Amino acid sequence: MKAFFKFANVIGGLPRSGGRIHRGVDPSTKTPLWDVPVASRQDVEDAVTSAKSAFPSWSRSSWEHRRHLLLQARDVLLANRTQMAELITKEGGKPIQFANLEVDHAANFLQFNANCPAFEERVIQDDAELKLTMIQKPIGVVAAICPWNYPLVLAMGKIAPALITGNCTIVKPSPFTPYSILKFVELVQPLFPPGVLQALNGDDTLGPQLTTHPGIDKISFTGSTATGKKIAASAAATMKYVTLELGGNSASIVCPDVDPRIVAPQVALGSFFNSGQLCVASKRVYVHEDIYDDFLQVMVDTVKQWKVAPTSGFESDIMLGPIQNEMQYNIVKQFFADSHANGHRFVLGGELDGPRDNYIISPAIVSNPPDDSLVVTGEAFGPIVPVMRWKDEDEVIRRANDTRTGLGGAVWSSDLDRAYSIADRIEAGTVWINGFEKPLPQGHLHGYKESGLGGEWGHEGLSAYCRPQVLHCYKAQVGPAKL
Ligand code: NAD
Repeated sequence: MKAFFKFANVIGGLPRSGGRIHRGVDPSTKTPLWDVPVASRQDVEDAVTSAKSAFPSWSRSSWEHRRHLLLQARDVLLANRTQMAELITKEGGKPIQFANLEVDHAANFLQFNANCPAFEERVIQDDAELKLTMIQKPIGVVAAICPWNYPLVLAMGKIAPALITGNCTIVKPSPFTPYSILKFVELVQPLFPPGVLQALNGDDTLGPQLTTHPGIDKISFTGSTATGKKIAASAAATMKYVTLELGGNSASIVCPDVDPRIVAPQVALGSFFNSGQLCVASKRVYVHEDIYDDFLQVMVDTVKQWKVAPTSGFESDIMLGPIQNEMQYNIVKQFFADSHANGHRFVLGGELDGPRDNYIISPAIVSNPPDDSLVVTGEAFGPIVPVMRWKDEDEVIRRANDTRTGLGGAVWSSDLDRAYSIADRIEAGTVWINGFEKPLPQGHLHGYKESGLGGEWGHEGLSAYCRPQVLHCYKAQVGPAKL
């Protein structure tokens, strides 16, 4: 039990501590959590060397072998479900009921990727003269750079496809939430050859060390658009493969033919789940004017019923916990301040609390702020949501698309033809129809515009961890015939 709450980097199959120490902060109490080592430059070198030496035999191991190991890793994770969920709650502030879901969802990523069919050789041409084939090969050493909002599941969305396709992976958690990832990598070490799966926690210099390291072949990044742009620029120097899953400002469009009593509670969930700290959350809600007033009232009544509280006592009925860290807390507060300064109408919440012993912000709904206001154009990544009226379908689609991001979106209508036609016109990689935003391991995730570069997840997502090789085999005799 005690050993579970000790944390180390994992390099070459072994835990490694020593050197500098860092501590996360429990956002429910603002108290420091457990010690965690900060990787040194030597740790990075050792991890890359170890991954490089593991790669030849790991990449040649059979898909079936790797599948078997990933399923065993899933079992190890689920055997530690209770403690892993507690770690997620402690480090991230997520209510325990949703931390448990995160562990289950992470297990689903392992299972889904393990069971994906292997890439087959594709025959492009086969005639008397030439056989032309294409195969998919693993890229090499992958650095998986992760954010803090879903620390375990978003890391698993990289680890599982990278490993099943035969890559070696070095995972870098956000320094705000290093614990669940380091623990998972440690727990499954006995399954994998040393160097196949490693984890490094670090300070602000670790990410750039990985993105510039010539021994790393691919960066898979999930995080903010601003950091994504830095990573793309930095990885260009060594021409690494890069996949970027970035921020968004997804719109939910509600048509007049839905029942507000059924749909408004779901839209509220899609907007406020994890206190708004979900990349694809509905960060803007557009409701048709015919049902606007009723819809807004049901949304407000729904959110008012939720228990918003510190989570580190693991109470099972909490719906919303704190913002994960002070930096994000201050960003969200700026959105509140801007709406107050511009006289927006808060129909729920809106108080700017004084100093407290946690990072809780009560959920707020802003009615009809102007389209160019910060709360509509920016990504608060917190519990403040603008709800706007619309009248004309073309007009609302134009407003939904009037953003430099294109991660997700949602459409609600009892006329499915209408819903599909609106979804088709939303410029985003994922659109939910008559359901709130629940990403799934089998659904490919691909941000448009400044929400990303490339995509991950789903069977298609495996190709993000592969590079093709095309073989042109001429059939003419080039030597004596074999007898
Ligand atoms: P962030 O960009 O601040 O940090 C993400 C990771 O990048 C962390 O591990 C951080 O240490 C590392 N990092 C920071 N600077 C770096 C650099 N110069 N080089 C390399 N690595 C660096 O993001 P965050 O605050 O952790 O996450 C919140 C953001 O992530 C939001 O914008 C959210 O929408 C987005 N997000 C997107 C998705 C998606 O799938 N598209 C999922 C979750 C979160």
